[in-house]
Amino acid sequence: MVHLKTPEEIEKIRQSADLLGRTHGEIARLIKPGIRTIELDHVAETFIRDHGGSPSFKNYNGFPWSLCISVNDVVVHGFPGQYTLREGDIITIDCGVNLHGYHSDSAYTYPTEGTPEETLLLLHRTLDALYLGIAQAKAGNRMGDISYAIQTHVEQFGYGVVRELVGHGIGKSLHEDPEVPNYGKRGKGPKLVEGMVIAIEPMVNQGSRRVVQEADGWTIRTADRKPSAHFEHTVAIGKEGAEILTTHKYIEENYTYKWRNKSQ
Ligand code: MG
Ligand code: MG
Repeated sequence: MVHLKTPEEIEKIRQSADLLGRTHGEIARLIKPGIRTIELDHVAETFIRDHGGSPSFKNYNGFPWSLCISVNDVVVHGFPGQYTLREGDIITIDCGVNLHGYHSDSAYTYPTEGTPEETLLLLHRTLDALYLGIAQAKAGNRMGDISYAIQTHVEQFGYGVVRELVGHGIGKSLHEDPEVPNYGKRGKGPKLVEGMVIAIEPMVNQGSRRVVQEADGWTIRTADRKPSAHFEHTVAIGKEGAEILTTHKYIEENYTYKWRNKSQ
């Protein structure tokens, strides 16, 4: 069942999303070779709590951390830990914030200095696919219009679109209906209506779309061990189009490696 949001509820999600965006910005300052991923989790949790929120992921179905941190061939749901980031790695930070009972959710994959050119391209193209999906998120369209835009953009480069995991509605719960798949057919699926709030989140593999789950019950890895990218925004669907409630602007301001300016 889809919960449509009132303008007042969307305002609450907007505030949650602003705190989330600023949390991402705090993490962006710290991402560099030599950082242990657990340190990022501590910074995020402290920042969220200091600003009156709580981390949506912590204890969600037993997930033990505030961030999902997914390095290189980890697609999503990686655990923060003792791993020390190295030159050439890519690292996805996925974070959710609960502020006054309303959730927001966004993710960003960072390259580091030394990330191979072909993996930089994967990141550029996955981020482009997110915005192509968002461009379809308007009242009157169908969910499949979002899915199709994402899938066709990345598959033209031979990448694999992960199917086992999808985007989702969001609001009073972190995960609500409807599902937002990153693959699908134009004109199919649920109709998009004003007041829907959804997380759109392409997960795109440099190689095959196949994934495997680790024994920890959470970590999802590419089956061929090639890198995977993941970008996510929480958006509100309106008559004229989507309002992007989350933001990557604090990441872009604070991350020292200006990779988006590099060759695409
Ligand atoms: Mg997320
Ligand atoms: Mg999500």
